[in-house]
Amino acid sequence: MTSTRLLVIEDEAPIRKFLRAALADADYALDEAETGAQGLRLAASNPPDAVILDLGLPDLDGLEVLKRLRDWYAPPIIVLSARGQERDKVQALDLGADDYLTKPFGIGELLARIRVALRHATRNGSPSGSVHEQGDLRIDFEARRVYRAGNEIHLTPIEYRLLTTLIKHAGKVLTHRFLLKEVWGPENVYETHYLRVFMANLRRKLEADSARPVYLLTEPGVGYRFADAT
Ligand code: CA
Repeated sequence: MTSTRLLVIEDEAPIRKFLRAALADADYALDEAETGAQGLRLAASNPPDAVILDLGLPDLDGLEVLKRLRDWYAPPIIVLSARGQERDKVQALDLGADDYLTKPFGIGELLARIRVALRHATRNGSPSGSVHEQGDLRIDFEARRVYRAGNEIHLTPIEYRLLTTLIKHAGKVLTHRFLLKEVWGPENVYETHYLRVFMANLRRKLEADSARPVYLLTEPGVGYRFADAT
């Protein structure tokens, strides 16, 4: 069996070294590029199963590399960005990145992001079954019913749609814009206060402590993520 092969496009040698060690331990094979141009060349000559792309590259803007890759490359792309660059992250996600990691990141976080991205890529975005069980939550998609610790929770249609959209992409960050479009429709993509209000409602109904959510996680400045089940 051949192992999953990742392409890392990153100019900083210490980060490449860290990735090399972490990914080899987890049985991933790794190709490395130090520049955007080299990365694009490598990706084209031997397409990897996923790409890890730094947004701060010496030759090309990482977002430009992302755009050129997405012209033809469908598998997951995870971007690396510096803390505080929320706008870049949002732009990268809008341009088709699957997720991001903020430097510095740990091995556990890195492997979780890769695993989730690869899983969603093979699953093609369709729900994995008619029931989703995670912790004390149980969502029966067929019956459109939601239970917490065995008790049925009443959700409004919008709350239900928001929850199921998040669960369909569990483990993956979803931007405000994406969620607003999916749940409220394309004419409402700037109404971020809708999201804040409905997310607060969902947390009150589904989380044991809505101030310390374990399912409905905030990604500051970017969006929300439903906790990965695995
Ligand atoms: Ca860099």
